[in-house]
Amino acid sequence: MISSVVHGNELCGAIAVDHLMQNKACPLHGKLTLAFMNVAAYHSFDPDNPSASRFVDEDFNRLWTKEELEGKRDSVELRRAREVHPIVDTVDLLLDIHSMQTNTLPLIVAGPLQKGREFAKQFGIPEMVLTDSGHKAGRRMRDYEGFSDPNTTRNALLIECGQHWEVSSSELAITAAWRFLSMLGVVSEETAAPHLRVQPPDQQQFVEVSGPYTIQTDSFSFVEKYVGLEVIPSAETIIGYDGDEPVKTPYNNCILIMPSRRQLPGDTAVRFGKYV
Ligand SMILES: [Zn+2]
Repeated sequence: MISSVVHGNELCGAIAVDHLMQNKACPLHGKLTLAFMNVAAYHSFDPDNPSASRFVDEDFNRLWTKEELEGKRDSVELRRAREVHPIVDTVDLLLDIHSMQTNTLPLIVAGPLQKGREFAKQFGIPEMVLTDSGHKAGRRMRDYEGFSDPNTTRNALLIECGQHWEVSSSELAITAAWRFLSMLGVVSEETAAPHLRVQPPDQQQFVEVSGPYTIQTDSFSFVEKYVGLEVIPSAETIIGYDGDEPVKTPYNNCILIMPSRRQLPGDTAVRFGKYV
């Protein structure tokens, strides 16, 4: 499966899936599923308030446990997740395409397991690979069921292609989609080659994410305009305030991962990581 618009305002994935369809990407073997996930959020896109269409009621990418999917709560996103999860249940290998708020280097989010790291290594793009276990606010689709079970061969990669709405993000998304299919032998290398617009790096860099900082109050702010991947040399450096409480880096040479401009209680403000 290649999935897009899990977040409705992240258009590069939809551009890539459309590109596969326009070019009639047809599996040589097995089954290829192409997905537009949060269609309702996508359709709510308003150029005057472009970030608002990330979701309608709640983040579609925080709902992926059996408890939530089979539970009693209701929202536009839960209804959509309940509609599509029987399809996701059939997926062996997933590439989930996203983009980011800030203009920072593209990333692969490989999850917490060795099999995710190996899958990212095999994929070979982009340069930065995060190994992580997600957000307190709920489980991501890339961590759903077998994708986060070390005893199955099911596997998933989430790619953050760059900043929302940048042409370069859609160029990488298209490259990633075709590369994913040719890597798995779903299409031939000859079929994919004309669409590979971004060259792989000489070497990938792996970052281990130790955890998120989850916002506690309704007045969170960073002390600087971080864009992500800043390396803060000293432990205990104050990077923000949550109410009156200073938020500090947990260790030396701490990397700030995807600092968020959505700063409500329960949300991830930033994640901390280190090079491995
Ligand atoms: Zn996203």
